[in-house]
Amino acid sequence: MMPPNCCLCENGIETGHECELVYFSKTESDRQWHAMAATGEGFTGHPPDCDWFCDLHMESAKSLVHWDLPTALRHLRENESWQLIYIDLFDRDTPPSVQKSGVGFESGFKLFWDRILATTEADGRRYPSDYRLSFLGNHPDYSLPRDCPELSLIKQNIPGDEKASEVIKLLSAGQASQMRKGGLKEAEKHLTDHCKQLS
Ligand SMILES: [Zn+2]
Repeated sequence: MMPPNCCLCENGIETGHECELVYFSKTESDRQWHAMAATGEGFTGHPPDCDWFCDLHMESAKSLVHWDLPTALRHLRENESWQLIYIDLFDRDTPPSVQKSGVGFESGFKLFWDRILATTEADGRRYPSDYRLSFLGNHPDYSLPRDCPELSLIKQNIPGDEKASEVIKLLSAGQASQMRKGGLKEAEKHLTDHCKQLS
């Protein structure tokens, strides 16, 4: 069995993240593997129809378990790949740059919020920088307007250190799930709904 490290990011043993094993639909050769494993004594190895996923990638994985593992991973890479783009507003000669790229809407939105909240004051003032979440699939980029009451509201409602990450994770998971269902418009609507509950 492979060590419990997420197959889509660096989360795992070394980062202190718990990962969960997710099983996918079996192909014919997966079935043969399991038949062999069931009979062969001392037959070891990692089953071909499952892999480890961290909490940020769990929902992406679970939405695709009706497919076999390679198909599911290919689908994720084709449809849920993202890049976080940093825009320096202080030095406008600096071109926007890719800060990080990854796979899975949850992890993309989570990173976007982590970074943008870290550059926003409680009164809504923002550092001279901005972020954009760019999707390699068939979606327009996600960004917030420069003057964004929703961003200020979220910043003001962020609890103390430990719970902050949970709140952001929940918001990101909600946006990711809506994105999967109805595209970016639905993800944006989720933010509006989220903020209605806060105000
Ligand atoms: Zn992961």
